[in-house]
Amino acid sequence: MDKKSLFLTHPEGFQQYKKMCMEIIRLIGGWQEEIQKPFSGIAAEDSLKESRRHPIAEKEGISFEKALKEVKDTIEKNRIKVEHPRTLAHLHCPPLVPALAADMLVSAMNLSMDSWDQSGTASHAEEYMLDWLTERYGLGEEAGGTFTSGGTQSNYMGLLLARDEFCRRRWNWNVQQNGLPPHFSKMKILCSEAAHFTVKKSASQLGLGEQSVVTVPVDDRKKIDMGRLEKILRQLKEKGELPFAIVATCGTTDFGSIDPLPELARVAREHQIWLHTDAAYGGALILSSLQRNKLEGIELSDSVTVDFHKLFYQPISCGAFLLKNKQHFRLIQHHADYLNPEEDEAAGLPHLVGKSIQTTRRFDVLKLYMSLRVVGTEGFARLIDGAAELAGWTAERLENDPDFKAVNPKPELTAVVFQYRPEGYPEEQVGGLNYTIHQSLLNEGDAVLAKTQVQGSTHLKFTILNPASGKEDIEYVLSKIKAFREGKA
Ligand SMILES: *Cc1c(COP(=O)(O)O)cnc(C)c1O
Repeated sequence: MDKKSLFLTHPEGFQQYKKMCMEIIRLIGGWQEEIQKPFSGIAAEDSLKESRRHPIAEKEGISFEKALKEVKDTIEKNRIKVEHPRTLAHLHCPPLVPALAADMLVSAMNLSMDSWDQSGTASHAEEYMLDWLTERYGLGEEAGGTFTSGGTQSNYMGLLLARDEFCRRRWNWNVQQNGLPPHFSKMKILCSEAAHFTVKKSASQLGLGEQSVVTVPVDDRKKIDMGRLEKILRQLKEKGELPFAIVATCGTTDFGSIDPLPELARVAREHQIWLHTDAAYGGALILSSLQRNKLEGIELSDSVTVDFHKLFYQPISCGAFLLKNKQHFRLIQHHADYLNPEEDEAAGLPHLVGKSIQTTRRFDVLKLYMSLRVVGTEGFARLIDGAAELAGWTAERLENDPDFKAVNPKPELTAVVFQYRPEGYPEEQVGGLNYTIHQSLLNEGDAVLAKTQVQGSTHLKFTILNPASGKEDIEYVLSKIKAFREGKA
């Protein structure tokens, strides 16, 4: 292609862009008719072959049309169809149309949020959105935040700041300058056993090791057991250990259970421990007037993780880390002469790199902004409440069927963990049966469910996010599961 056709700088470039976008829109338009199943069911070895069918690059390029056709016939055809009503596995949402359209603009503008001179007003717009979010979550006047790649990065940031703040307060120790303090191995993080695995992963990356994470048992509703937590805290202190952070989970990945936030905040305050709330999943309830009360106490957190590429229906990736006292961002600040010199900050220029662990960073805020403008908070509430209602119905449906057993018969969010337990099936083989069913549904491409382990036995999981999913989809999957036993046993 001619140089002038390759960039938006020239009218020829714009003409090409328009043509290419139209081809992509045509491809996406085809999904309306073609989508019968959530997955082609391709086997892993064939998938590997398909992915390598065409060379990555040759000396001269080929037409966009031809390249797109190759992608359609190899990758797109064999993708997991997240928009399909029977894709019910993970916290993986169909993206909102206004967000998808905004994403085009995000890419075309190609701003970078690290410095003012790569973003302009977009940096102020990100701050505006963060002000709105911290206000919604009730974090107070001193709060701040940053957009992140998602819950993993947000959880990491929460524990990073908690670690550094603890070392500063206790030993007047500067981790940024000096690395970990001599007694770092005594530093402990507490969370429930149902907390996200990124708590442990963060601890290991923060130099504290997974050994620093003490997991607390959950009660029968899969919420952290407060009695056990307080007992463990006392025991740790008696042994001279230094608990410095509690991670509350507001929406566990498997069960959607919400830890008792006000009680955790009370304990954290009493022991002067940082409270980080992982609301990657449950944070979206803030937009639902029916369900917002479940988040009571979140405003008492020192930091909060929220994911927008889950129940806020944003295209990946889009998340935020919110901080009750934005001064704590100083713990990770670094001034680079070329990017964010101190004199610029004194002059009031927002160089957001100071609050992030990333440097170059997308203007993902725009997707969320356009979605909130176009859909409105009530529109979001209808989506979230609808998914929760279907999850409640599903759990009840399973409870009323002797062949199934739900582990969380009263889901707080939209995930239902269950097991198929046909009458007379040998108990020790039930886990294996559910494992096989999961595989088989995926291989046939009829439904994409998740599987997880409960007490060492494989269980199935519906994670309901898609507003297009209905009772008939759940019934269809359950009948497929039942047919499996009838056919094979
Ligand atoms: C999804 C999830 C995460 C991880 O978030 P990513 O956006 O995948 O990085 C962390 N915690 C919880 C509770 C989650 O559900």
